[in-house]
Amino acid sequence: MKKRIWRWARVSSAVSEFHNRTVIVTGGGKGIGAGIVRQFAQKGARIAIADKDPGSTEFASRLRQDGIDARSYVCDVSIGSEVERAVQEIARDFGRIDVLVNNAGIFPRGDLFSTDEALWERVMGINLKGVFLMCKAVVPHMAQDSEASGSIVNIGSLHSSKGEDVTLAYAVSKGGLITFTRNLAHALAPRRIRVNCVHPGWVASEGEVARWEANGSDIERIQQSAKSMPLGRMQTGDDIGQAAVFLSSDQAGQITGQMLAVDGGLSIRRPI
Ligand code: NAD
Repeated sequence: MKKRIWRWARVSSAVSEFHNRTVIVTGGGKGIGAGIVRQFAQKGARIAIADKDPGSTEFASRLRQDGIDARSYVCDVSIGSEVERAVQEIARDFGRIDVLVNNAGIFPRGDLFSTDEALWERVMGINLKGVFLMCKAVVPHMAQDSEASGSIVNIGSLHSSKGEDVTLAYAVSKGGLITFTRNLAHALAPRRIRVNCVHPGWVASEGEVARWEANGSDIERIQQSAKSMPLGRMQTGDDIGQAAVFLSSDQAGQITGQMLAVDGGLSIRRPI
């Protein structure tokens, strides 16, 4: 059944504007990143997964079996030399880079007192510096001569605008990502590279589920509470992927420096 869906995807790609375009997805090996990869792949894009988990190579090889031109590059986005090497390899292998989705991120809990210096630096290193390093390495490879030559989509979080301190470093890193997105959008507009940010609501990704399990949370209760979200369910990685595809498409050709919440109405819910 799954195979049949992919075959349909390859047929539809023949008319897609993403056909033969190269899309890099950081942290694309699982969770939300895998949903983003699937959505771009369904549009016929060529996929480069940049993930620190070597297991992402298996995901890329499954995609290739389904006829998608996908490769994985093991790289930690918080380390400049690894980012530089991975982007050089991607540019060499694919010949062009059109879209960068900065999705890799970690979300450990911790308030002012339980967050130590090492954790603070790790969160900032991956969630914020990693985005900076990826953009710095990728932008020189993006075409600069057409009407809509490149798109960068950063994956943010609703925590960026909340005052809860249970995820202090995480919230601050995602807040910084908003400022980064706006600044870069302005700086790259003359090159016709657009930069936007998607704020997912709540996604039962591998990372999120592992966190529930580690906290001993009642998963059934969590799933029940998700039904009280305005649109009645949690989001999926594919929901986030669809927004990333839209923001990178010609339909969004005049959209840059913007934040798009894909949260089933979570951010407009009446406070309890
Ligand atoms: P996840 O833990 O399920 O997957 C994260 C992926 O990123 C993994 O494949 C992991 O190997 C990779 N990764 C982690 N650190 C990396 C590094 N240093 N270099 C390269 N790759 C790295 O997480 P997720 O829930 O899919 O989250 C993806 C993004 O969405 C994150 O930026 C997160 O902050 C954001 N987000 C998630 C939710 C949610 O509810 N799950 C909500 C809002 C925002």
